[in-house]
Amino acid sequence: MKKKDNLIIITIDALRYDEFKSYFEVLEKKINRGYVFFENAFANGCGTPRSFPSIMCSSYPLAFGKQFHISKYEKTLAEALRERGYATLGFVAANPFVSSVLGYNRGFLVFDDYMRFKGNTVPGKVSWFLTTTKNLVWGKPNYPRAEEILTDVLQHLSRIDVDKSFFVWIHLMDTHLPWLPPSKNPLWKFKAVLCNIKFRNMLKEYKGKRDPNLVHNRVVKEAKKLYISTIDYLMNVLKKFMIEIDKRCPNTWIVILADHGEAFGEMGIIGHPPELFDITLHIPLVIFPPAVTIKEVVIVKDLFSLIDLSPTLLDLLQLLAEPKFFGKARNIFKYSGDNFVYSEVLEEDGSDKIDISDGHAVVSIRTNNYRYIWREKTREEELYVISNNNGVVDYKEEKLENEEVLRRMSKVVAKFRRNIVKSTIIRKFTYRKKERKY
Ligand SMILES: [Zn+2]
Repeated sequence: MKKKDNLIIITIDALRYDEFKSYFEVLEKKINRGYVFFENAFANGCGTPRSFPSIMCSSYPLAFGKQFHISKYEKTLAEALRERGYATLGFVAANPFVSSVLGYNRGFLVFDDYMRFKGNTVPGKVSWFLTTTKNLVWGKPNYPRAEEILTDVLQHLSRIDVDKSFFVWIHLMDTHLPWLPPSKNPLWKFKAVLCNIKFRNMLKEYKGKRDPNLVHNRVVKEAKKLYISTIDYLMNVLKKFMIEIDKRCPNTWIVILADHGEAFGEMGIIGHPPELFDITLHIPLVIFPPAVTIKEVVIVKDLFSLIDLSPTLLDLLQLLAEPKFFGKARNIFKYSGDNFVYSEVLEEDGSDKIDISDGHAVVSIRTNNYRYIWREKTREEELYVISNNNGVVDYKEEKLENEEVLRRMSKVVAKFRRNIVKSTIIRKFTYRKKERKY
């Protein structure tokens, strides 16, 4: 039997679409491969724990409950690929929300989440505090940088049986606060650490608030510059990694995407709080097929929902579809999208807790022109019109009073939510039946 193509998924935390797009040239020119670039890809939830269920399990964030943990009714892409004969390896740069604690190691033969401080114990917390303080003094982030992780990946890949197809998931944190790209300039490092501390304090101060003046705030502007410098660093590291993969394993699909965006005052918010706007949900997504598959560039303008990513990847690898996935396999080379993307979060998601089991849903649908939001807590509905700045992304959404559009979108959301409930019940029922059989 012909060996199946390999797959590498690189998820980059909090990477904005607009900033990624301006740096994409660095990658594109050097690696000389065809690719499919999605201009309108959206996450189905905001924040790492609400976005990853759709990326890794093709499941809606609140479908199986309000907890962050992957439920027993869901199947991870790694589990699906392992069942289909793949060697599976996962590397997560110390983000607890996609760590083994929450079940993201499921299906991986090799999994390292770089979480070196164990649990909620006092020695664990003390050791975390001391290491983080020491790192900050030296201008280092409290997660491993991309270079460290990608070196580990290449080492592991050299040990894989050559006859075996592999799936590698890499989650990078360089574009997530604290933004501390490597630098030899001690003064620059000192200023960068100070800016990170000030921005973190602002996040606490503005939690749950929206302020249109934030976009003009000096600390916010400085923080954005620092954030952009991390993208510059990351693109150069990724470029080297992709050239190396091309040399070693040419039959490899590489997917680059983010879990959510990052706000620097747009829509009156900073960071990535549980707010459903383009600034938090619009994400970069690029699929690089193996060089033999396509040489050209395909630009996709239609709306793409991350729920469809895992089913699409199984299809591209010519593997059997996974019935537990909620999304559909899409033809990315001749793509025509749905009319809207559905996303959901809990208002309480911004809390520092590792897991949340209670709270109020905020749901949204985004069409080409509008955004509709419904808040469970207050039963309020909001309608926004998406700015069309001559095709330039500016993340402005203006509130709109239009009863007819509001009613229409309200019905669409209610029907969509009923369908999610139905699909969830079917999966729970099917899973139980199977469990009894064995
Ligand atoms: Zn994230």
